[in-house]
Amino acid sequence: MGAKEINVKCSFCGKEIPCPENMIKSQKHACFECFMKIKDKLDPKEVDRIHVAIPKEKLQEAMPDMLINYAMQKAFPDFWNDHKSKFKDMSKKEIVEESFLAGAKIILNLKEDFEKEMTNKNSKYKNRKF
Ligand SMILES: [Zn+2]
Repeated sequence: MGAKEINVKCSFCGKEIPCPENMIKSQKHACFECFMKIKDKLDPKEVDRIHVAIPKEKLQEAMPDMLINYAMQKAFPDFWNDHKSKFKDMSKKEIVEESFLAGAKIILNLKEDFEKEMTNKNSKYKNRKF
């Protein structure tokens, strides 16, 4: 995607890492190596304020871990509650696939909603479904 990236310094080791422009105001920046070292000690609230530069090739490796342990419960609490018991019998790969789809669906719904509002400015808020 065309998001602009700016180089920032990792708050923990000082290494230069790329940061998307919209995350530049994060309280801290962490390179992937540092984040993996500190992530278990972090408070979820703290994780919110850190931008982590995840190299593309590491994204897949890191995803199951982070998705299941943290992001899922936070980003999709309803989805998580619905599926919690089901997840116990699923492999990590299946969970990632399913949660990825759920995330994509939410984003698509939002986008559709947004586009509708933009084209139908006059009937704003009339046909909201969520
Ligand atoms: Zn670092």
